[in-house]
Amino acid sequence: MSSSGAEPSIFSRIVAREIPATIVAETDRIIAFNDIHPQAPVHVVITTKTQQYRNVVELAAAEPALLAELVDVARQVADERTGGEFRLVFNTGPSAGQTVFHVHAHIMGGQLKEGSLG
Ligand code: ADP
Repeated sequence: MSSSGAEPSIFSRIVAREIPATIVAETDRIIAFNDIHPQAPVHVVITTKTQQYRNVVELAAAEPALLAELVDVARQVADERTGGEFRLVFNTGPSAGQTVFHVHAHIMGGQLKEGSLG
């Protein structure tokens, strides 16, 4: 199921610079910014600029090259901030903790806060 045509997601509003965020990496199709509620010393959200795909399963099925690009930008962000060892977490579905249905991953480095995973 696609969410295109829906209201702009919070992440689309960051892409549009309608709400502020600390952007740490950006390409034509990908954007990464610091999570507003960090659960680890390094906690960056990385997402596609369009909100066409609700989750990583939809993105992988439709545009595997875009998923590969997202992973590569995540690696670059992590190389700069964590020395290249990091968690890349795609919460998929409400019962898995997903609250924003615009495909994104959590790049996390260092010790996680108690009880958190993305
Ligand atoms: P969860 O909120 O349970 O982690 P998601 O996997 O959907 O669910 O992740 C959404 C993430 O987006 C959260 O970590 C949240 O802190 C972050 N977030 C929400 N709004 C903003 C914002 N304006 N700027 C930066 N990060 C945000």
